[in-house]
Amino acid sequence: MIELQHISKRHRAGAVETTALDAVDLQIEAGEYLAITGPSGCGKSTLLGLLGLLDRPSSGRYLLQGEDLTQRSERELAAIRRGRIGFVFQSFNLVDELTVADNVQLALRYGELPAKAQRQRVAEVLERLGLAHRAAHHPSQLSGGQQQRVAIARAIAARPALLLADEPTGNLDSAHGQEVMRLLRELNDEGTTLVMVTHSAEHAAMASRTLRLLDGRVLVDAPLELAA
Ligand code: ADP
Ligand code: ADP
Repeated sequence: MIELQHISKRHRAGAVETTALDAVDLQIEAGEYLAITGPSGCGKSTLLGLLGLLDRPSSGRYLLQGEDLTQRSERELAAIRRGRIGFVFQSFNLVDELTVADNVQLALRYGELPAKAQRQRVAEVLERLGLAHRAAHHPSQLSGGQQQRVAIARAIAARPALLLADEPTGNLDSAHGQEVMRLLRELNDEGTTLVMVTHSAEHAAMASRTLRLLDGRVLVDAPLELAA
């Protein structure tokens, strides 16, 4: 589904250049659940940003579902991102001026669904995540666990083929963290390809494959049973 060929990413801050990713080769099959781990600064967020088309590599090639995206315009990348990729962040990134339902509907605003079908889809997704009774609330009226469920609802509303999660349980207590992990597992079981950055060894163990980075390189790339 995804192929990174010799991807490097260099960040420049003034005169200082940092190599965040150094010639990474990576293939992710449809339906995989990949956990990305490694110490702070090893390149995890940079890799997720490249996978999500939020950022471009300094060199190397990126293929998504067989298409080479390396030379695409910003506009084309944005359209691909909206249609095929969902994001879940540590800090939820919800809009508090909007209701829960409107936050989820944001994910559908550039799609093809007419307004009525959008509202139906939002209701379906909220129901599925146990949030139907919160549709008219604002995010700040909800607990952290509920807010992250709203963020997941928004991420999956457009039925993306690829779901990217950056420390999705980082701001949650352990009970709500577990609940979010169960939910991600379920979505993957239903066929969504999932890539998650996590510091938690316990959470990484829920993935089917672990990629451990060090200094911008892949140190270990192993299926679950070998990764520990
Ligand atoms: P991780 O997510 O594993 O903590 P990052 O991908 O955030 O690692 O960062 C990898 C390296 O790239 C670090 O050395 C970091 O300081 C550097 N870096 C990341 N983003 C930027 C940026 N926008 N500008 C300059 N350096 C950056
Ligand atoms: P759930 O198990 O459905 O996620 P929670 O245990 O998160 O529910 O929350 C239980 C109730 O307490 C909910 O009605 C929620 O809105 C409220 N609540 C919990 N934590 C907070 C919080 N930090 N701010 C506002 N309301 C909260």
